[in-house]
Amino acid sequence: SRAILGEETLALNNFAHLNSMDDLLPLAAESQRRYELAEPLSALDGVPVAIKANFCRTNSLTTSASSMLSNYRPPFTATAVSRLEAAGAIIMGSTNMDEFGMGSLTSSSVHGPSVSSLPYLPHLSPAPPSAPPSVPRLSPGGSSGGSASSVALRSSFLSLGTDTGGSVRLPAAFCGVAGFKPGYGEISRFGVIQYASSLDTVGVFTPEAGDARLAYEVLRGGCKNDETSSSLFPSSPLPPPAPSLSSVKIGIPLAYSIDECLPAVKASWASAASSLEAAGASLVHLGDDRMSEHAVQQSLAAYYVVACAEAASNLSKYDGVRFGSRERDPEASFFEEIENTRAKHFGKAVRERIATGNEVLSKEGSHYQNANGVRGDVRDAFTRCFEVADVLVMPAQVGLPPEVGKGEEVSVGLANDLMTCGVSLAGMPAIVVPVKGGQGIGVQLVANVGNEGLLLDVATKLE
Ligand code: GLN
Repeated sequence: SRAILGEETLALNNFAHLNSMDDLLPLAAESQRRYELAEPLSALDGVPVAIKANFCRTNSLTTSASSMLSNYRPPFTATAVSRLEAAGAIIMGSTNMDEFGMGSLTSSSVHGPSVSSLPYLPHLSPAPPSAPPSVPRLSPGGSSGGSASSVALRSSFLSLGTDTGGSVRLPAAFCGVAGFKPGYGEISRFGVIQYASSLDTVGVFTPEAGDARLAYEVLRGGCKNDETSSSLFPSSPLPPPAPSLSSVKIGIPLAYSIDECLPAVKASWASAASSLEAAGASLVHLGDDRMSEHAVQQSLAAYYVVACAEAASNLSKYDGVRFGSRERDPEASFFEEIENTRAKHFGKAVRERIATGNEVLSKEGSHYQNANGVRGDVRDAFTRCFEVADVLVMPAQVGLPPEVGKGEEVSVGLANDLMTCGVSLAGMPAIVVPVKGGQGIGVQLVANVGNEGLLLDVATKLE
């Protein structure tokens, strides 16, 4: 499989691990046979798929891009992955990401940073990718950067990502592909290495929004192994695509027009709104009484308190004894050994979040509870928007993709998170679609809980 992808593609470091051709070829042959019999299992039969490195797959290395899990081969497969396999999709390998999903650039990975394929695409066809030296090495965004970039390059035609606070949406914007995260609980998280359990959502990258619908049909639905799966309640089929947007109200939450946002991003936002209006939708401007600037700014603080607190709790099991790589030292006491293990096998970003999480959980009248109060306010703000609008259109980012190795400062990630993490706190479905000609700029559409079908419909009208 390395030979098929080619060394130049592999140099982008979008993959953490590739499955061997010995595994892939029999699957491809079976799929071909099904097509010959005109009996494909689904629209995804035979489609090459990549999965983020935090999805467990039986006996496959599942590192979550951490030294802590560098040798972890799970004894089970994530529900999302087994549904893809049952639909005939062929799992090519696992994609690079920020360690445990913590980051916005796919730079904090034990596998090294990923590079976005987007600037290389014009050089791709018909020859294999050959990048003139002038092509900038840009970040694919994160944390699911490898998944987004591999779809942009068509190394895979569909990939799985996870979105805790924007990790599907920002890379989709940076890499020029569609990135869809349904509402919280709509796709089972069973077998996904946790970051922050009340926010973690499985999402998909596809070349276009229409393909995201095909993937979602396969992935959604009840899972007895994830008790937060909303599909415990039988999920109704997605409504058929609507022929027109004439009855759809598109809300523009003006509070997201923040100073940090680049003029090019604001211009794409405005042009997406005009395109939807031209497609027949009506536009509604949403002021401070529905979504306030205060709610937008507070969502970032609340997100980081909640995410770090839950991360500290989720990652406490990696002590080298119960789970994870172990740093053995006959001279050290048991607790020193655990301390050394965690110091050595967690990267800096992860250690910082665990420390922050333990701090916010340890205070009297915990910050975690306050942050959950703010979370309720943010959810209320979105709910007020959906009283007068069906789908919101807003930016997915504040800036353009930085060069790899630059823009590692915390502020770059945080500014972009401002556009995505409020939606995560509210648990709403959202999709980012690339803006034509806007290299590395996407626009975000958000719908109310349960309205994934309408959201995907509207998104296809932007393509
Ligand atoms: N950038 C955000 C964070 O680091 C979001 C990451 C994600 O969605 N996994 O927490």
